[in-house]
Formats: sequence, C-alpha cells, structure tokens
Amino acid sequence: MKKDLIKKARAFADPYKITNGKKFRLRDYDPADTLHLVSEDKPRAKEGLQMGVDALAELQDVLYAQDKWSVLLIFQAMDAAGKDGAIKHVMSGVNPQGCQVYSFKAPTSDDLDHDYLWRCMKCLPERGRIGIFNRSYYEETLVVRVHPEYLQKQKLPQELITKNIWKQRYEDIAAFERYLHRNGVLVLKFFLHVSEEEQKKRFLERIDNKNKNWKLSSADAKERAYWKDYMKAYEETIQNTATKESPWYVVPADNKWFTRLVVAGAVIDALDSLNLEYPKVSAQQKADLAAVKQALVSSS
Ligand code: ATP
Ligand code: MG
Repeated sequence: MKKDLIKKARAFADPYKITNGKKFRLRDYDPADTLHLVSEDKPRAKEGLQMGVDALAELQDVLYAQDKWSVLLIFQAMDAAGKDGAIKHVMSGVNPQGCQVYSFKAPTSDDLDHDYLWRCMKCLPERGRIGIFNRSYYEETLVVRVHPEYLQKQKLPQELITKNIWKQRYEDIAAFERYLHRNGVLVLKFFLHVSEEEQKKRFLERIDNKNKNWKLSSADAKERAYWKDYMKAYEETIQNTATKESPWYVVPADNKWFTRLVVAGAVIDALDSLNLEYPKVSAQQKADLAAVKQALVSSS
C-alpha cells in the first residue's frame, strides 16, 4: 500500500477523530467544514475518493485472507445526514462476500424480549469481514434518551430504571466495545454531523423530487423539534464512549462529497494500523505447491 495514500487518508480523518471524550464539545465541530477544500475541488475530491475506494478493496482482501481481525463500522446520524450514501460510496469497491450491512430500526417485540445488545450481537462481523451497522445500540442513549417513553416499553424491571441509567448504558457500551477489541473486533463509530439548516434543505428536496418522496415521513420532520436534545445526547454519548481503541469520528455532513472522503480516510487509516499481511506460506506448503504444479504441467 502506498505510504502517501495512507498519509492523505489519515490527514482527512484525524481532525475529526475523538479518542478521549473528556474535552469533547460538539460546538467545536462545524458540519460545513471541508478543511482546505472548496467546491471547485469537488472533481479532485471524487478522484481521491476513488483512489481511497481502491485502497480499501486491497486492504479488505488482506483482512479476509488473514482471517483474524474483523471490523465493525457504526453509523449514527440525524435523518438525511447521508448514512446510506456514505456506506454505498465508501464500500463500493469492497468484495460483497467480505462485507455485511445491517440496519437497526425501532425494536421488534422479539428484540424487546431481550437486553438491548442482543439484536446487535447477533449481527457482529465474522473474522476477516467488515460489518456495517446503519444505526446500532447507540440508539439506546440517543433516541431512547430523547424520548424516555421508549424506555418504558423496554419491559425492564422498574427498579432498574433510575436516574443513573444513561451513565450505566455508557459504561456497558464502553465495556462491550473493549471486550470486542480484546477479541479482535475493531470498532469505529461515525457520527455524520449535519446542520439543522442543511437537513431542512434535504427534507424539502425529498418532498419536491417525487423519486425521493419515499425517503421522508412526517415523523422525520416532527423529530426536528427535538434537535437540541439530540445534539446534547450525541455530545454526551461521544464524551462517554470515545476511546483510543474504539474512536468516534465526528464527520462534517453538510457536503456529501467531503463526508465520504473523511469516512474512507478513517477506514483506510484504521485498517492500515492493524498491520495486516497475507498468511505466510511455510516451506512445506511451498514444496507441496511445487509438486502440484509439476503434476499439473506434466499431465495431459
Ligand atoms: P433513513 O435514513 O433512510 O430514513 P433510517 O435509519 O432513519 O433510514 P427509518 O426506518 O426511517 O430508518 O427509522 C428507523 C427509526 O428507528 C429511527 O427513527 C430510529 O431512531 C429508530 N430506532 C432505532 N433503534 C431504536 C431503538 N432502540 N429504540 C427506539 N427507536 C429506535
Ligand atoms: Mg429515517
């Protein structure tokens, strides 16, 4: 893998990477940020993304061959922030056999009959694979925090619902991710950070373009009334669950082309840090392969 490509990838991801949440403040992150790039750079950014996509495909091939680490990419965002598009574009070069995407919607009655990690645990990536969660157990400290009535539906013993419940959830999630890391699952978390104004613009587009109508429900628009509560919930969640092993990336999401560069950069950087390599072939295996070759060549 080319060193300068990895360096570039890291330069896009680093400014948005949170490895220690203590000092994290959401207001320090601008949803419209594009680093030094301006909209005239868009065509070059697209080329850069393509190079990133190719690099990712190469890294994923080694991840799969090595069959030790797996990677879990978690995407969280307000509606219309571009989760689907980011997943589609960044993963476009990756072999579908090595990649699994799961979307987590409102829990089913079967889900509610279990602890909240249950449905996500069933979908964890196998070794050598990249798993993508489009929403995740983080909804438990986001939408559920903003709408406490959802908590009441979770069939928890009432005495366990105390004022400490959110702190406890942060602890449990952080512990779960530490456990995953200790078992060879690299967890990266992305918050696609869109502004309230840009979301409004995208909602209006969804209404005006009839091919996009299906993407918008009246409930989505109603959620805008809780914007501040959501931002507070995101801030606190990131403060409490960003770690060196499982960082959060607060990705500017007002410009989709830039969002994709940052996400691709982060995934490339993280995969590179695993120092992946193809399995070594032993002297015995080499001798066996040579014998097979000999037999094939001399056969009719
Ligand atoms: P799109 O971006 O295409 O709209 P989406 O991820 O928003 O996709 P939807 O079906 O629109 O998918 O919404 C899923 C809804 O499920 C979200 O509003 C989300 O907050 C909600 N949800 C997910 N997990 C939970 C949970 N544990 N408890 C309550 N609601 C949840
Ligand atoms: Mg939605």
